[in-house]
Amino acid sequence: MFVDVAKIRIKAGKGGDGCIGFHREKYIAAGGPDGGDGGKGGDVVFVVDNHMATLLDFRYKKKYVAANGEPGGTKRCFGKDGADIIIKVPRGTLIKDGETGALIHDMSDDKPFVAARGGRGGWGNAHFATPTRQAPRFAKPGQEGDERFIILELKLIADVGLIGFPNVGKSTLLSMISAARPKIANYHFTTLAPNLGVVFVAEGSSFVCADIPGIIEGAAEGAGLGHDFLRHIERCRLLVHVVDAAGSEGRDPVEDLETINRELKQYSEVLSQRPQIIVANKCDILDPESDNLQRLQAKADELGCQLFQISAAANQGVKELIYHVWHELEQLPPVEVFEAEMSLEEPVLNPERDIQITRGPDAIFYVSGAWVEKIVGSVNFGEYESRMYFERTLRKAGVFDMLEARGIQEKDTVDVLGIQFEYIY
Ligand code: GDP
Ligand code: MG
Repeated sequence: MFVDVAKIRIKAGKGGDGCIGFHREKYIAAGGPDGGDGGKGGDVVFVVDNHMATLLDFRYKKKYVAANGEPGGTKRCFGKDGADIIIKVPRGTLIKDGETGALIHDMSDDKPFVAARGGRGGWGNAHFATPTRQAPRFAKPGQEGDERFIILELKLIADVGLIGFPNVGKSTLLSMISAARPKIANYHFTTLAPNLGVVFVAEGSSFVCADIPGIIEGAAEGAGLGHDFLRHIERCRLLVHVVDAAGSEGRDPVEDLETINRELKQYSEVLSQRPQIIVANKCDILDPESDNLQRLQAKADELGCQLFQISAAANQGVKELIYHVWHELEQLPPVEVFEAEMSLEEPVLNPERDIQITRGPDAIFYVSGAWVEKIVGSVNFGEYESRMYFERTLRKAGVFDMLEARGIQEKDTVDVLGIQFEYIY
C-alpha cells in the first residue's frame, strides 16, 4: 500500500531532576552540598532513509517518544541524558505543523533534523552554593521536553515526471530507461503508486524519473485517482508528457494532450508552466494513413515544446529521448527544496517584553507572561530556599521595580501565575 500523508505525535524526553545532597564522610561534619544535575531529555530526530518509499510505517505507529533524562545523584553525579529517538522517513518528506499545516522542514538532504528538543536537566544543589548560602536545600526539577502533533507529507524528489493518460505507455517507458520495474498491463490505473527510476545516461550522468498514477479528465472533481498523486511531480524540473500516437484506445492524442494540460493547470498554475517534452509513443503500431503525428507536431510547435516519436515497447527512439532530456536538465535549475514557513527555535525570552503586569478588580497585581512561566516551571515551591531563590530572580529581572512603577504598596497582594504573596519591599 502506498501512503503519502500521515499525522503523528512526537514527544521529546523530560530533563532529569537536580539532586539535593550533602557530602558525607567519616570524621567530616556538615559536608558541603554535592547534589548533581539531572540529564537532558532525549530529542526527536528525523533522518532520511533512502530505502523507504512510503509513509506506510506511520499508519501503524502514531506516537514517538524520546527517553527522559535521569535525575542527578549525590557526590555531584550527573544524571544520564535520555536517548534520542530517531525517526526514518523517505527522502522528500515534508514535516508540517499539525495544527496550522505550516512547513517546518523539508527532509531533502542528509542532515538530521531535530523536531522536538528534550528538556534541560535541573541543576543539583551543588550549583546553588554561594559564600553566604553554603547549604542550599533546593535543586531544580528537569524541564519538560517539546511535544507536538506533526503532519508528514511525502513529495518525491525526481528530476523528471512522466504524465499522460492511463495506458499510453508511461510505465513501459520507465522500465526501458531504468532498473525500475513498475507494473505494466493493458488496463487503466495499473500504476497505483508512484515509481521512481534512476536513468543512467553516461558515466557519471544520471537523473531520477517518476512515473505517477494517471491523471484523467475530471480528476479535479474526484474521477479516477484524483489529483493526489500530482504532489509527487511538484518538484520535477521537467515533465515528459506521453501520448498514444496510434490512438490505440480510440482516443485522439492531441485531445488527450490538451485534456491533461488542462488538469495540470487546474491543480497548479506553477506546475502547468513547467517545461514539457511531448512524447508520441506506440509509433510501432501507428496507421501509416493517420495524420496524428503531423497534428501532434503542429500542437507541439504551438506550445513551444519538442516532440519525440518513440516506441517504448520496441525500444525505438528512446535513447535519443534520454539524451535530449539530459541535455535539457543541464540547463534547468536544481530540484526545488521548500522553505520552512515556521521555526521551532525557542524564542529568547526577555523580561521587559515577556513579563506582563495587570491589576485586577480585586486589587491584586497579576504577573504573567512567557518569561514568568519559564521561571515558575523550574521552582520547587515546597522548599523555603527555593522560594527565596524565586523571589530573588524576580527582583533581579526587575519585576519588583515594575510593580513599584504600577504603584504597589506594602502588603498588597501579588499573584505570579497563581502563586500569591504579600508585597514587602
Ligand atoms: P501506463 O498506464 O501509461 O503506465 O501504460 P503501460 O506502460 O502500463 O502500458 C499500457 C499498455 O500499452 C501495455 O499493454 C503496454 O504493453 C502497451 N505499450 C506500451 N508502450 C507501447 C509501444 O510503444 N507500442 C505498443 N504497441 N504497445 C505499447
Ligand atoms: Mg503505468
